[in-house]
Amino acid sequence: MSNDSHSPAGAAVNPLGQLDLLDGPDVTVHQGRCVRVRNRNASCTACVDACTTGAIAFEDGAIKVTPSLCIGCGTCATACPTCALESHNPDDDALFDTCLAAMRANDGHVTFACQVELDRAFGHCDETKVAHVTCLGRVEESLLVELAAAGAKDVSLVQEVCDRCRHSSGRDCACEVAESASSILSAWGVDMPIELVDSLPESVVAEGVYGTPDETEAPRGDAGRAAGVAGEAPSDGDSGAADAREPRRRERFEKVGRDGTLPQFVPTRRGRLLSTLRDLGEAPSEPVASRLWGEVVIDPECCGSCRMCAVFCPTGALRRFSDPQTHTMGVEHVPGRCVACGTCEAICPHGSVTLLREVYPSDLYDDHAERFEMRPPQVELGRPDTIVNKMRTVLTASKFVSQA
Ligand code: SF4
Ligand code: SF4
Ligand code: SF4
Repeated sequence: MSNDSHSPAGAAVNPLGQLDLLDGPDVTVHQGRCVRVRNRNASCTACVDACTTGAIAFEDGAIKVTPSLCIGCGTCATACPTCALESHNPDDDALFDTCLAAMRANDGHVTFACQVELDRAFGHCDETKVAHVTCLGRVEESLLVELAAAGAKDVSLVQEVCDRCRHSSGRDCACEVAESASSILSAWGVDMPIELVDSLPESVVAEGVYGTPDETEAPRGDAGRAAGVAGEAPSDGDSGAADAREPRRRERFEKVGRDGTLPQFVPTRRGRLLSTLRDLGEAPSEPVASRLWGEVVIDPECCGSCRMCAVFCPTGALRRFSDPQTHTMGVEHVPGRCVACGTCEAICPHGSVTLLREVYPSDLYDDHAERFEMRPPQVELGRPDTIVNKMRTVLTASKFVSQA
């Protein structure tokens, strides 16, 4: 496949969908991690729902990408359960460093504000005390938990301009992240309030200068175009951010394993989150509800023993087992690897899988696994629609097989 064009014509011939058209300096696309690329029956549309500009859309049952609309806010990367999309504007390490510097400058308080808010408050706010993001949707749980571990007293996400921003879906994502990170931290006994606030906190307002901000002041730089506040929305043909894109080398797909299982991975953010939580203290005994982890239950009554859930699970949270000693087989679920992508639930041909959104924190560690034993798959020889019988019908009708 060539990566020669961002044009619709180039995209139309891509059998894997258009997601890779998004790949550029702001967002890296790992196509092989997208559950929709891995299995066309997967139902995830998290990036579509979160995208602040409509750069990622869902049409005719497939993901469609308009790269010129992307403002590099990273909200899609926050929403993607498998980290198939990775933000570089800035990347996670750089954003953490920015937050640490802002936190230290402001006595342990962390304030996030988007570029439009900073532009609006230009001259009235001490920007050294603020962590700048293109959109609040860039903030995700592992960053917040790492800030808690670094001693942050509280986190404020300034939503002052969101109501008037055409990309306000980033705030919805930030709300969900704040709620999910708060419930994780409180389960671990960490007191670090995370709030969406309506104005810049007093502690970051430059003394004696910040008053009534000038609403008519034009945003600086790209921010006005990007955020659509007090400015023109980028048109489909606006190539502002897209022009700067350099085509990247298309990611090579790893080979399918000998057992037919697709390549698996654990997203870096998830690994970092678990290790930071471990540093924060002992895992609590009460279950935690968050968008990040899941607990899988398989109904043995309707399970067909095909183990397709383990074939397509992106992280290896579901894995096959066969135990010759006990003569048992089935799958086991490892909550610490589960990213709650819902693929197993969506693709199970028998509707046997249920994904629960509450997990026991102690189950997230030490490769804890829950086993689901299965009956060995049965070949129903009498049924005319089985592969065996269909092949027999084809072959016996064939001139290459003796009819005697
Ligand atoms: S970076 Fe922002 S604008 Fe670009 S595709 Fe992701 S959510 Fe949409
Ligand atoms: S959110 Fe991630 S896994 Fe889901 S469709 Fe988008 S890229 Fe694929
Ligand atoms: S177990 Fe299911 S929900 Fe969890 S990562 Fe695997 S496919 Fe996704």
